[in-house]
Amino acid sequence: MDIAATRRADPYYRDPAGEIREAYWTEAPRGQVTRYQHSIPGDDDLSRARALPVTVVAGAAAGPTLLLIAGEHGNEYENIVALQETLAALDPSALKGRVVGVHCCSVDSYLNRTRVAQADGHNLARVYPGKADGTLSERVAYALQNDFLGQPAPHKPACLVALHTFGPGMMGATLSGYNIYPAAPDLTEAQRAASLATGLPLVWGHEFDPAHAAAAEMGDDASGRTALYAAYLAAIPAIYWETTWGGGGAEEYKRGLHRLMVHCQMLEGTNEPIAPRARIESVGAHGAGNMASHHKAPLPGLWRPEVAIWDQIIEGDLLGTLRDLYGDTRAEIRASRNGTLIGMPRMQYVVEGMPCGIVV
Ligand SMILES: [Zn+2]
Repeated sequence: MDIAATRRADPYYRDPAGEIREAYWTEAPRGQVTRYQHSIPGDDDLSRARALPVTVVAGAAAGPTLLLIAGEHGNEYENIVALQETLAALDPSALKGRVVGVHCCSVDSYLNRTRVAQADGHNLARVYPGKADGTLSERVAYALQNDFLGQPAPHKPACLVALHTFGPGMMGATLSGYNIYPAAPDLTEAQRAASLATGLPLVWGHEFDPAHAAAAEMGDDASGRTALYAAYLAAIPAIYWETTWGGGGAEEYKRGLHRLMVHCQMLEGTNEPIAPRARIESVGAHGAGNMASHHKAPLPGLWRPEVAIWDQIIEGDLLGTLRDLYGDTRAEIRASRNGTLIGMPRMQYVVEGMPCGIVV
């Protein structure tokens, strides 16, 4: 489904023209660093307390706008730290265009050290394009969709990067991921090129069906209503990054962000070519980027992995077992397909339904 048809099909999509409430970032003076709190819709204390911390590094020279968002899941930190340090190191006099960083999108989940917002139980990364009069997370999504992604030229972002980690329970390959849109080949190619420019070890594209997202319930884990979908609605190329929580990925992210700015011709220089360790494109039925759909635990138990990240997996291979507290195996998790293991839980007690091995 192409972009125009997706906009028509999604009952929550609103034309941003006339809906943009405020956007201080578009007025940030050139050659300076501007910090401000971007309000979210809602005239109440909680909404005011959950405003978005934004830094704008506006280059002295004109150029594209790069939109970087961190903390959609507030219990992920390498992404937040890498964004902080990247913005602090940027010299506006050497920058062409503008880098707009939203330091933490789900302030509510950050303050509660959780993946989802405590105020509404929502995963922000599943509620785009949001609702102006919805729950807290839906209103945050609305602000990001309308006030940032929805800006018309010359403020329209040239690229969005949604910075994540695998979260405290998982480990995985540091990656730049992107959606493959069969109906939008130019957008797909821009996302592929941006991912390859990052120098991150895994570049992973996965087919995405916008029609599914447009018809899905807001907030449903399999909805596909991610920030990448929000960018699709705005016709903006978008990629997302993942790394192992507590695994040192902030440095890879900082290097990757610098390379992306060179790629977007916002900084002088050329990127030394770095071939990814693996470059994977998943299309068809297994294409979905929703990692939670992989090898779900059939019952709760102590997860004992038998494989390592980056292992080449053959269908039927034992990925790990689920044990009881005596050490007896209650379930074996065997690979349902061939591929590369890019993520799995750390050794821990897992609940039923937790993904035990992402093989792509
Ligand atoms: Zn995340």
